[in-house]
Amino acid sequence: MKKTFFILPALISLLITSTELLAFPKHNPVPGGLALIPINIDLKPKVFFNKHPVAIISKDNQSFALVGIPLDTNAGKKSIQIKWPNKTTENREFEVKAKTYEAQYLTIKNKRKVNPNAKDLERIKKERIRKSKARKYWSDTTVNTDLIIPVAGRISSIFGLRRFFNNQARRPHSGLDIAAPEGTPILAVEAGTVIETGDFFFSGNMVYIDHGQGVISMYAHMSRVDVKIGDIVEKGQIIGAVGETGRVTGPHLHLGIYVNQTLVDPTFLLPELKISTK
Ligand SMILES: [Zn+2]
Repeated sequence: MKKTFFILPALISLLITSTELLAFPKHNPVPGGLALIPINIDLKPKVFFNKHPVAIISKDNQSFALVGIPLDTNAGKKSIQIKWPNKTTENREFEVKAKTYEAQYLTIKNKRKVNPNAKDLERIKKERIRKSKARKYWSDTTVNTDLIIPVAGRISSIFGLRRFFNNQARRPHSGLDIAAPEGTPILAVEAGTVIETGDFFFSGNMVYIDHGQGVISMYAHMSRVDVKIGDIVEKGQIIGAVGETGRVTGPHLHLGIYVNQTLVDPTFLLPELKISTK
C-alpha cells in the first residue's frame, strides 16, 4: 500500500515530462522529416538549407536549427550553411536516413479534380503562384513550435503516401489528414498571422498561418473560413470548420506544415496522436 504513494507521483511527473518532450519538434532526419542541429546563437548567425532561410528554436538554453527535409531528398550526407556576422560561412553536415513511403489508391468521383480542363488549368496556375508566395513567407520573429492538434478526429491519411487518383500517379501526400464531420471546428495549431486564405481548385477553402521564421501551417478542404488575411490568431483559436471542398473523398482537414519552404510530416511537430487509419 505504502509503495503506491511513491509510485504515483513518479508516474505523474513522468507523464508531464513526456508531454513536454512531445510538444518539441522531433529530430527525425528522413525525407519529409526534420533535422534538429545544435547551434550556438550568441553571435546571431543566419542558417540556410538548399538556399532557404532556416528557423532557429531553443529549449533549455540549447538552440537548434530546425531543418525541414524535402520528401524527394535522397539519403546521405547533406549540409546546412551557417553565416556568421564576420561574413564567414560554415558548412555543417548531417545525415539523411532513407525512408520508404507506402502507396495509396483513391477514387475521386469528380473526374475534373484528377484531369482538370483547360479553364481549370488556368486557375490552378494562378493558385500555384499564390501558394508559392505563402510558402516563401518569412518573418523575423521568435518562432513557437509547441503545436496543438487542430481537430478532434481520426487520422485518415498519413504524410508521404505515394498517391494514385483513379489509378493515375499524382504528387505524394504532403500533409496529415484528420477526418471529422463537416462543421467540426478547426483550431490554429499555434499563434500567428493569417497570410493567405481563399478557395483553391485542389485544396478547397484554405488558410495559411505564419508562426515565424518560415514555420507556416496550412489548412485545406474547409467548409468555412472564419479569418482573413492579416488577422492575428491565438493558439487554439477557431479559424474555420472541417469540410469537403476541393479534391476529396470525404470531409476531413488536410494539415500541411512548412519549415524552410518545405512540407514536412506534421506528426514530428504535433503531440502524439493515436493513428487509426481506415
Ligand atoms: Zn490530405
